[in-house]
Amino acid sequence: MDKYLTSTVKSIPPSGIRKFFDLVMQTEGVISLGVGEPDFVTPWHVREACFYSLERGYTMYTSNQGLLELREEIAAYEKRKIGVEYSPAHEVLVTIGVSEAVDLALRALIEPGDEVLVPEPCYVAYAPGAALVHGKAIPLETFDSDQYRLRPDILEKNITPRSKVLILAYPNNPTGGIMRHEDLQALVDIIIRHDLIVISDEIYSELTYEGQHVSIASFPGMKDRTLVMNGFSKAFAMTGWRVGFACGHPDLIAAMNKIHQYTIMCAPIMSQKAAVEALRHGEGEMRKMVENYNFRRKLILSGLREIGLDCFEPRGAFYCFPSIKGTGMSSEDFCELLLREEQVAVVPGNAFGSSGEGFIRCCYAASVPNIEQAIERMGSFLRRHSSALSNTGG
Ligand code: PLP
Repeated sequence: MDKYLTSTVKSIPPSGIRKFFDLVMQTEGVISLGVGEPDFVTPWHVREACFYSLERGYTMYTSNQGLLELREEIAAYEKRKIGVEYSPAHEVLVTIGVSEAVDLALRALIEPGDEVLVPEPCYVAYAPGAALVHGKAIPLETFDSDQYRLRPDILEKNITPRSKVLILAYPNNPTGGIMRHEDLQALVDIIIRHDLIVISDEIYSELTYEGQHVSIASFPGMKDRTLVMNGFSKAFAMTGWRVGFACGHPDLIAAMNKIHQYTIMCAPIMSQKAAVEALRHGEGEMRKMVENYNFRRKLILSGLREIGLDCFEPRGAFYCFPSIKGTGMSSEDFCELLLREEQVAVVPGNAFGSSGEGFIRCCYAASVPNIEQAIERMGSFLRRHSSALSNTGG
């Protein structure tokens, strides 16, 4: 079969997260701080809205762009949250999660050889998405010492005549870094001067624990060159419903909708109905979940530091990204050994780009007892591999 597959698809590595989780599935009694998924079930009122919509016979296709009532709620939500106004008729597209929105945007924007600038470490889908349309992802390294913010000098240094798109994904998976108003301000002039389009993946925007989430789309001159993406998976605990959205320039939204209509048709109507309910009445439940994540964020951060791991304080999302450099092990060796010896699953940092080597991602969307138990087991692991501790200073 191999000879039939395109060289493009063969050139894409399987997701480092999935590869690692095949191992997890084969191990018993594992505590997983692995997959980046809320441990909450979707709030009851949202599930109920879905049941009710089915009872009333909503089982058909919707408009390709998504239900108008949902697009209206999305536009109202974005105005409330980031202060940017979008027309529900022309500037909003409902997608199968942010995943589809990223794919559509890259397909609509990238010509072969175009460059997509991607701050790293980052979510696993961007570089393969660029490769699938024969574009080239250019990593922009971000550092622990900068709190994983994208530095303007690093952006500028990597821009070439082929640079077309900059992906900003803050709060960030896997680091938990955020970009404050002044950090984004420092990028705006460069973005405009070099005529870049920004894909702003804001899926963790509600999970911001320090100050308010700020979108680059809200800066003067940026609305039309920014495609804001968000969805229901994380903040509303709706990963399995597969619904998200993109907001941006009407021409770009129309181009994306053209691809979407031939490949997907529309997001499932029951998920769209549930999403309407989440936006109309979901703020209270969502805030409770966010408070809960914040509690666990502090718990895991102090736990990791106590066992001797150097860890940046995450300001958003639901991940900690401690350094394991002092152990002398590679990220993959560390994770495999930890899984085998202590049955704790975390993700090797290099799954998020080569600059993630020397780090591990721990997702704290897990129960408090599981987080405590995982920390205890990681502590014994580090003590056993004691050369590790002598180097971490812990
Ligand atoms: N963007 C980021 C940064 C993510 O971490 C994830 C999932 O982990 C996604 C997008 C995918 O989101 P969705 O479930 O909306 O497709």
